[in-house]
Amino acid sequence: MSVEVRELLEKKCGNNIAACTNEQLYYGLLAIVKDFAKEKESHEGKKKIYYISAEFLIGKLLSNNLINLGIYDEVESMLKQYGKNINLIEQVEPEPSLGNGGLGRLAACFLDSMATLGLNGDGIGLNYHFGLFLQTFENHLQKERKNPWIETESWLTRTDVTYPVQFGGFTVWSRMYDLDVTGFENRTNKLHLFDIETVDESLVGDGINFNKADIAKNLTLFLYPDDSDEAGRLLRVYQQYFMVSNAARLILAECESKGCNLYDLPEYAAIQINDTHPSMVIPELIRLLMEKGIRMGDAIDIVSKTCAYTNHTILAEALEKWPMDYLNKAVPQLMPIIRELDTIVKDKFHDKSVAIIDDENRVHMAHMDIHYGYSVNGVAYLHTEILKKNELNHFYKIYPEKFNNKTNGVTFRRWLMHCNKGLSRYLDEVIGTGWHKDADELEKLLSFENDKTVLHKLLEIKKENKHALAVYLKETQGVEIDENSIFDIQIKRLHEYKRQQMNALYVIHKYLEIKKGKTPATPITVIFGAKAAPAYVIAKDIIHLILCLQEIINKDPKVSPYLKVVMVENYNVTKAEKLIPACDISEQISLASKEASGTGNMKFMLNGAVTLGTMDGANVEIADLVGKDNIYIFGESSDTVIEHYEKGDYVSRDFYESDEEIKEAVDFIVSDDLLNIGQRENLERLYYELLNKDWFMTLLDYKDYAAKKEEIYQDYEDRDAWAKKMLVNTAKAGFFSSDRTIAEYDKDIWKLKG
Ligand SMILES: *Cc1c(COP(=O)(O)O)cnc(C)c1O
Repeated sequence: MSVEVRELLEKKCGNNIAACTNEQLYYGLLAIVKDFAKEKESHEGKKKIYYISAEFLIGKLLSNNLINLGIYDEVESMLKQYGKNINLIEQVEPEPSLGNGGLGRLAACFLDSMATLGLNGDGIGLNYHFGLFLQTFENHLQKERKNPWIETESWLTRTDVTYPVQFGGFTVWSRMYDLDVTGFENRTNKLHLFDIETVDESLVGDGINFNKADIAKNLTLFLYPDDSDEAGRLLRVYQQYFMVSNAARLILAECESKGCNLYDLPEYAAIQINDTHPSMVIPELIRLLMEKGIRMGDAIDIVSKTCAYTNHTILAEALEKWPMDYLNKAVPQLMPIIRELDTIVKDKFHDKSVAIIDDENRVHMAHMDIHYGYSVNGVAYLHTEILKKNELNHFYKIYPEKFNNKTNGVTFRRWLMHCNKGLSRYLDEVIGTGWHKDADELEKLLSFENDKTVLHKLLEIKKENKHALAVYLKETQGVEIDENSIFDIQIKRLHEYKRQQMNALYVIHKYLEIKKGKTPATPITVIFGAKAAPAYVIAKDIIHLILCLQEIINKDPKVSPYLKVVMVENYNVTKAEKLIPACDISEQISLASKEASGTGNMKFMLNGAVTLGTMDGANVEIADLVGKDNIYIFGESSDTVIEHYEKGDYVSRDFYESDEEIKEAVDFIVSDDLLNIGQRENLERLYYELLNKDWFMTLLDYKDYAAKKEEIYQDYEDRDAWAKKMLVNTAKAGFFSSDRTIAEYDKDIWKLKG
């Protein structure tokens, strides 16, 4: 294979690989890999799973594809012969940030696993020209810029598939673009991304603002445009309908081409609705089937046996409810169908809480999915239990058989083999390569848990990764960190429920303590990485606080030898791949009951970080697997938290007033030290938010959190014992392979194998 790659690459580079630039080599490899991927395309299988998602946070593709095609090592060493470094070639690739965070990254991991398991399954989404915004920091504030990724030569392939899509009052033409999804030593599937033919990038200036009214030109410009105003929300409805109308037509066309008579659609297609963004696929499919002459009752029946829904959140504000006015304007042709679906439900069930259209004329997308889908799944054990017992209890009582759990997972190809070559290659030496395809084989590591050679080697690899991260942060952001310090990392979207503010309060406490002369045994580097939604005011205030702390602490000559704070700019998949292998402590500190699963927690564990977390999301399952000696759990339980919400009895000010340490840390937010470098408006707003509201109960768990931090830092001092915890975490991570998750989806929901 490598001989072939060499020859092909020489052809593309004028016969002289050594003289090629990294750009030339990147575009050369891109074209070669696309051809190789194509050879593995397969159309085998009567039934196909269509995974529809508004987000696919795929990350860079070159290395991942080389690994999955089984030629990474060969290509790397071939390039080396010519003095070329594959890591530098990789840097040329722009990252397609077609997702916000966990949900989008999950969809990308799932595509990898479907292809790896040889399942006949494609993804369907939108071809955003600008993915999630590019984040920069100016004056200790987040600034957003557009984030282009599509180049003349890219992983996208233009297809001939195009459909007219009808909106209220006008029609647009779509065009399908395909991305190859290479399975690990298996078939190539497709990610179909739909675009409009008339999209106009010139509508966008430097920032992320654009004319939101001209749908035929702006529809696919941005991932989730700012929905803080009505025009933004309406555009989202247009995007969602555009996505599912194209999806529905593609699915029906593919099934018909296989000879399906459409009454048998469920034998040919399973449609997974990833969160509620694709929910309109249900009425759209019904509409299209009726256009083909099928009676409404039959169409509803067919669609209900084809669609399955995944719930990703219990945050009420995140469950989509579209005003009928919006739908009437954007997609009037769906309204008679949605009304009929609602009438059928209201005739059967008199409970208002399960209605599709509520008293305020809003359409509850999740309710439509649950009534007219055949499966409803949560994404971690605890999350599914909360759905059944609390949030969706009324539905669970009606349809107990529809509810099931599918605990999330991540692909080990990207999140270990690619991002942590040192550990990956060492594991191959110690336990063989079986874990590449059967993640449970990582458990073989357990027999080495008292083997000093193995433990020391794990520490050595971690040290190398920390060194690499320190160099990278110096190069990219100019910050200097001590690679011998503890790397304590919290990277994820900025949201109050994830409680970056609690971590920041602890940093303040530690800073004040060190200033008073109480220094830690080992220096600590607290690393954050997070983007805040452009309209999410408090989230941006928290970023402001962290950036101010970074400035104060890192510049303080008395404190900075012991404590540093780094806010990584523009956290994305590429940055995650560098941060996670270097992590000692993985911060998973959401308010119990609020994080549906988390997947960052799984990536960290796999790479030998020890979790400091609450009993929330998949942390519960991590704790179960590694045992209490290998994880640090703190905070109130989800039951207690849910009770506080029900009773409305949490008063953050009580915690502030009754505890000196809390008061000192919270007051510091509006101290002269901070006001001197930060913005009074942002700092005061955050201060009053914590004092008077604190909806996600930061102060409730703060003391317990701080105590656990002291314990974990203490335990880090015994490096051999720590290495053992690292080993157990990696060894027990097999359960969190998305191959396991996808095998379960197939067995319980999709049943592609009959
Ligand atoms: C994994 C991942 C996430 C999800 O992180 P959580 O900690 O589970 O919220 C978000 N963004 C990126 C870039 C990721 O790789």
